[in-house]
Amino acid sequence: MNDTICAISTTLGVGAISIIRVSGKEAIEKVNNITDIDLTNKKTHTISYGYIKDKNEIIDEVLISVMKAPKTFTTEDTIEINCHGGISTTEKVLELLLNQGIRLAEPGEFTKRAFLNGRIDLTESEAVNDLINTKTDKARKIVINNLKGTTKNKIRDLREKLVKIITNIEVNIDYPEYQDIEEMTIDKVKKEIGNIEQELENIIKNSENSKIITNGINVAIIGKPNVGKSSILNKLIEEDKAIVTNIPGTTRDIVEASFNLNGITLNLIDTAGIRETEDIVEKIGVEKSKKALENADLVLLILNNNEKLTKEDQELLEISKDKKRIIVVNKTDLDKKIDIKEENIVYTNTIEENGIKPLLDKINEIYKLEQLETNDFYYVSSLEQLNRLKQTRNNIKDIKEGLTNNLPIDMLEIDLREIWQILGEITGETYTEELLDNLFKNFCVGK
Ligand code: GDP
Repeated sequence: MNDTICAISTTLGVGAISIIRVSGKEAIEKVNNITDIDLTNKKTHTISYGYIKDKNEIIDEVLISVMKAPKTFTTEDTIEINCHGGISTTEKVLELLLNQGIRLAEPGEFTKRAFLNGRIDLTESEAVNDLINTKTDKARKIVINNLKGTTKNKIRDLREKLVKIITNIEVNIDYPEYQDIEEMTIDKVKKEIGNIEQELENIIKNSENSKIITNGINVAIIGKPNVGKSSILNKLIEEDKAIVTNIPGTTRDIVEASFNLNGITLNLIDTAGIRETEDIVEKIGVEKSKKALENADLVLLILNNNEKLTKEDQELLEISKDKKRIIVVNKTDLDKKIDIKEENIVYTNTIEENGIKPLLDKINEIYKLEQLETNDFYYVSSLEQLNRLKQTRNNIKDIKEGLTNNLPIDMLEIDLREIWQILGEITGETYTEELLDNLFKNFCVGK
């Protein structure tokens, strides 16, 4: 943490400018060695014009910002060099910095330093990263919430409540003669625990929703040939007033198209090699469907209203039964021959106007999208943090059991302390190196 780090903070590519960021004790001194500007006597938060030089050779004409500790993102001395965009120039400037003995930053290291130096907590750090990755306006809104520290404050508040209960219990035990300390009766503890449980559940629910808002829902459309999969897909896409993005060969290469439905991103899972065929969702067999199901948050199983259930339909019903699923009985403009009794069925056709509205309504109902836009949106965004939060459910369960079984009140303390500890790991007030490494490895370099 004591060394000075640097990284290209803008996307490396051809652009008008690119920014190289340097942070650490030696930032000013080292950058000073490669420029004709005298940075040593610049005031903090000023920007100066000059050249980056490799001995006598001019490498680039630049603007250099000097930001002195502690009022910087990392709280350390920070320099930002605005170079002319372009890969070779930017890399050359970076190389000069590395030659000065400055180390290349790891992914997320600037943000990690901001955290370790106490400027932001972990929920805010994650928000920094999330903000870069948001795709929709809704996602941006909830992320900004966290950047302002909304979740941090909520969790701190919960921790304070826990500490209050714990200390009260302890004082009651150790100094039963103290009259002025409120006695923690079973009823009082029950009430307080009930409140804490509700708040925790709220954060868990929001966190699950936030994953939907920021990453979208992975949807697999399955069904035997000719039931109307492609027709339904096309209708869904028409609903999207924005442009459908085909993203072949991205890192999440299972996703072939994503489109926006009332503010949520639906990522269509490739079920049949979209690249090779005109037909977006190709005729797929059971095996292929199984594969698509693995990665799906939501399955749309399409059936034909005008036909009795076939063996293949039965099989698809069976393999998708444990998934979040909507059964779409399509072709309702034709005579009803299907006989099916399952949960979550909608009836559609792709012929009439609004023929697939029941499906759209169902998706909205399942994900209750209207409710997502609120200012009290407390959430954690990484899966690790969410799992941590879910662990507190066990503690709450233990406490409640203890209360019903009339265990001595101090026995509850262990679980209360554990919840307090877990919440501390979420804001980063208590943390382990492993936790930090895991969180920051998903960041981009230069952040
Ligand atoms: P897929 O093989 O499951 O992708 O099915 P398609 O979308 O290619 O549709 C198969 C056939 O059914 C095509 O001729 C469509 O025009 C027709 N089709 C799709 N949806 C409907 C519907 O709601 N009503 C009727 N009558 N025909 C439909």
